[in-house]
Parts: sequence; C-alpha cells; structure tokens
Amino acid sequence: MTTTPTPPSEPRDPLLARYARQVRLDAVGVEGQHRLSHARVVLIGCGALGTVLANTLVRAGVGYLRICDRDYIEKDNLQRQVLFDESDIEAGLPKAQAAVRKLRRINSAVHVEGVVTDVNHTNIETLTEDAELLLDGTDNFETRYLINDLCVKTGRPWVYGAVVGVSGLCMTIVPGETPCLRCVFEQAPPPELSPTCDTAGVLGSVVNIIASLQAVEAMKLLMGRRDDINRHLVHVDAWSGRFVTMNVRSSSEPNDCPCCQRRRFPFLSGQRAVSTTTLCGRDAVQINQGTATSVSFSAMADKLKRSNACAVSFNEFMLRATVDGYELTLFADGRAIIKGTADPDRARSVYARYLGH
Ligand SMILES: [Zn+2]
Repeated sequence: MTTTPTPPSEPRDPLLARYARQVRLDAVGVEGQHRLSHARVVLIGCGALGTVLANTLVRAGVGYLRICDRDYIEKDNLQRQVLFDESDIEAGLPKAQAAVRKLRRINSAVHVEGVVTDVNHTNIETLTEDAELLLDGTDNFETRYLINDLCVKTGRPWVYGAVVGVSGLCMTIVPGETPCLRCVFEQAPPPELSPTCDTAGVLGSVVNIIASLQAVEAMKLLMGRRDDINRHLVHVDAWSGRFVTMNVRSSSEPNDCPCCQRRRFPFLSGQRAVSTTTLCGRDAVQINQGTATSVSFSAMADKLKRSNACAVSFNEFMLRATVDGYELTLFADGRAIIKGTADPDRARSVYARYLGH
C-alpha cells in the first residue's frame, strides 16, 4: 500500500490553472470560477476594509472591480491598509490609484479601475450602474445608508462591514430576502457616542477578519450561491476570539423600516445628505448635516481627547479642537467648519474621522 498521494490533475484551461486551489473547492468549482470571472463589482472606500476586500477579490479572480475612494495615503494607514507601502506615500498617490497599481501587478487578468472621488448622492448611481454587487469599505454611516438606499431601490445586494477598536460587524444585505441596514440600525448613533478608528484606534487583525468575511459573502453572491449566504449580523471580538452571530431575521418580517418597507430613500435623494461649502479666502470648508442634530459637546470632547486631537475646548455654543493640522469648530446643530483645507473631500474625510460616526 502506497502512502504517496496521486497528484491531482491540474485544469488545462490557463484561466482555471491560476485558480486551481480555489476551483478544487466544492463551493466554487469550474462554474463558480467562470461566474466570478464575469462578475462586476464596485468597492466604495479603499481604506482598511477596502484594501483587504480588493486584495482578496482580485486574487480570487473577480472579473471587474471599480474602486472609489476620496483620500490620500498617510503613514498611519500602513498599520492595516494592506495594499499600500511607504513608496505610495512618497509618490503622493490617492488610495484608489495606488490600489489599482498594486492590484494590476497582483492579477493582470482582472479589470481594475480606480476613481478618486467622494461617493455621494449626486454620483453613486452613475458609479455603480453596471455593477451587480456593492461592497462597503467606508468609514461612516452616511455613506452606508446611501449604499443601502441605492441597493434597496434597485434590488442589488451589498455587504456591510465595520470595524473599530478590536471588534467589528459584518452583514450581507439582499433586498427582498434579508433585512436591510436600516431594519437593523434605523438611525446612526449620536456621533459623540460612536467611536471611530481615529478616536478609538483599530486592530489590524480585526480588519482582516471582517473584510475576509465580507469577501466570502461577496464570492457567494457573485457565484450565484444565494442559499449559502450568511443571513446573520456577525459580531467579532478579535481580542477574545469571540464570534457572535445575531439573528436579525425578525427584522425582515413585516416591520416599519423606512427604507425597505416604506421605500423612502432620503440619503439617495439628497434630503439627508451632508453638504459642504468652501469658505472662500479662509482655507476652510463648512460641513452641514442633512438633518439638524443636537450635539453633546462634553461627550464629543471626551471622544476627541482619546484621539490625537489637542486644544479641545468648548462653551455652550461651539467646540474647538486641533487635529492633524486642521482646526475643527463644531456647532451645537452638528454643523462644522474644518480650517486648513479648501478641498471639500478632504474636509469630509476629516469630519468623518473625528466628528462623525
Ligand atoms: Zn429595511
């Protein structure tokens, strides 16, 4: 009796040969790989989750990937944003372009396109009209609700992911089959009570875990394996190694969800959109929330003090802080002025990191 394993025959098709280890999986197979190679996906946000998602899907052989991101790469991104390195920072590349350069070197068979833009209600339909799946690599509730509005309205799936600290969440949304994001989180939590990666930190490992779970869900959707989709909200604590899957199925039963039940799409129509105004001659941008909110300055000050913000002070009318060379002024109705840039996208990014949720 021999103990030498017989080498399995490699697929003759050169396309399949590249993905031989993946094609061999019962869950994928030749048909799954072919479906993947014809799939069109849009990734919104190419930071921590986005770089892991793009890396995984391009290596897996997705057909087409459009990457939309508004930001540039900074040194403190490298701890977790796996597609970038020090030379990208020296070259001053936007994330979407640096990601495309790297991904084309990884897999030239995948059509990868980078778009340096702030995804908002004015452009999301154009950016995603040819995609069958949207992936969430964002860092804020506003853009996630925008993606949710669009996907529910057009009946396309998307995969939500979020990380902060040592934990994260992941959920697959298939309109008409699963609860939508607003079934689960009807409103975003108050910004002063919701930490961001810039105020609370983030562990690289949890980014990889959540984005990997998102990538698996994406592959199932793209390969037409709807029955295998995880229909739970998954919570991961990477430090303790604890995974909790929460049943959100009850949310899909008749409820009062403003999005998937009442079919109102205020984030997509712009009614709930954040607006920006460049303040001429002041090197500053004003950011206005779509809806008036009441901010607790003391809670926001505590949140900012846990980040690298300095000179945090407030009175009954406004809160001020300095962070990363920008002067932030926040008013009680949620309006903010970011001084130190005239670029609205840059200002929105700073707002999302430090004052948003
Ligand atoms: Zn819903």
